[in-house]
Amino acid sequence: MTKWLIKCSKCGNERILEVSFNLYLVGGGRIYLYCPRCKSNQFHVVVARVGEHEAQQGE
Ligand SMILES: [Zn+2]
Repeated sequence: MTKWLIKCSKCGNERILEVSFNLYLVGGGRIYLYCPRCKSNQFHVVVARVGEHEAQQGE
């Protein structure tokens, strides 16, 4: 699992998302999901990958 720092493009709320895939590759740097602050689905910008370890498990 990889942790990503994502930021809501609407309200700017930052949060950590833990997923098993590379968000840069899958979403092209953006991901559309639920924002608890907006209380609706919004585009989130992928800010950074969180954590030091590299998950080497292929694509
Ligand atoms: Zn939001």
